[in-house]
Parts: sequence; structure tokens; C-alpha cells
Amino acid sequence: MKKPTRRKCAWCRGWFHPVREGQIVCTYTCAAEYGRAQTEKAKAKAAQLAKQRQRDQQKEERAAWRERKDKLTTKSEWMKRAQDEFNGYIRERDFDRPCISCGDINPPDLHGGKWDCGHFLSVGSHPELRFEEKNAFRQCKRCNGGAGHYTRKNHTVSQRYRENLVAEFGQDYVEWLEGPHEPKRYRIEDYQRIRDEYKAKRKALIESREEAA
Ligand SMILES: [Zn+2]
Ligand SMILES: [Zn+2]
Repeated sequence: MKKPTRRKCAWCRGWFHPVREGQIVCTYTCAAEYGRAQTEKAKAKAAQLAKQRQRDQQKEERAAWRERKDKLTTKSEWMKRAQDEFNGYIRERDFDRPCISCGDINPPDLHGGKWDCGHFLSVGSHPELRFEEKNAFRQCKRCNGGAGHYTRKNHTVSQRYRENLVAEFGQDYVEWLEGPHEPKRYRIEDYQRIRDEYKAKRKALIESREEAA
């Protein structure tokens, strides 16, 4: 095979006549420079690989940590997380509604906020309706919190809740809520699914409102 009579130096790009097989640089100076550049390149690549490996490892550690943490999370904690997301969605859905009980549109600030998600039939007495959207509305903290279940104030609050539901949605709606209902058995996976569902629903609601604005 005929050797090329001349070629371009891999370092300085100048033409030269190779004297050895596989010679890619013209002079020793270019060979040294070229070699140094190659070493730098290799070093940079090794550093990049090490960084990537470290990132992968951190990712794995985080995933393992999350898994351990999830295993330690009790069922009641999962229930609470699902409930928090559901409640957050209801408050967002009802962002422009007055309090379902007292009708206030600008209630006083209590316990660091104004609004709660209030269940018409409480999650304590009707756990099967804890994730029922028809059973939950935005309610001011004053109406939702504080008074005990059998106090006069609480009685009045739920009475007005009921009256307002009847006025807006009708007698059948309320009677359906009042049941009877099948009891629900939730597993941890159900709570996780409910949490994810309501997180997504709330996000979609906020996004669609921002788009419309
Ligand atoms: Zn050269
Ligand atoms: Zn209220």
C-alpha cells in the first residue's frame, strides 16, 4: 500500500511528510502538545464519569432511603397524607365560594389561615365519606374548628351546612349523603393512589385557572 506522501498534522494542521507508519503530528513539539491535550481530554472524561457515577450512587441511596422510610410509614400516616391532598383539592376547587356554613367570604385569620376543608358528615362519624367530594366544601376555620361535637355551636354549624347544601343541591343530594353507605376498606396502596390523584387534580385546577386568567 502506498503511503500518503503528505498529511495534515493532528496538532498544528500544517502539512508534513510522515517518515514513520502512523505518524500523525509533524514535529516533537506538536507530538508533545498533542499528547498533553489527549491526556487532558482523558482526564476530563474520567472526571465526568466519576461525577456521573457519584450522581447515580446518590440517586440509588435516595431511592433506598425513600423505600426504607415508606416501609416505616404507618397506614394512618398514609391516610393522613391522602386526606391532606383531598382537603387541599377541595379548598382549591371552592376557592371562590363563601364558607359553606356561615356564608362568610372574608373570615378572620385563625390558626395561620382562614380556610379549611370541612366535611358535612365528619370523617370520624362517616369514614366512608372521607374522600367523597360531595361531602366536603370550603369552610372557614371558625366554623370548622374549635367547638366540640356536641356543643350548641357545632350543632348550629352543621345545621347551617345542611341547610345550605339543601338550598344549593337539593334534598336528594343531602339524603344520599346521609346514607346508608357501604363501609370502605382502604389499603396503603389506596391511600397512595388517592394522594397522587388529588395532588394531580389540584395541580390541573390551578393550571387551568392560570391559563384562563
Ligand atoms: Zn504540527
Ligand atoms: Zn364559616
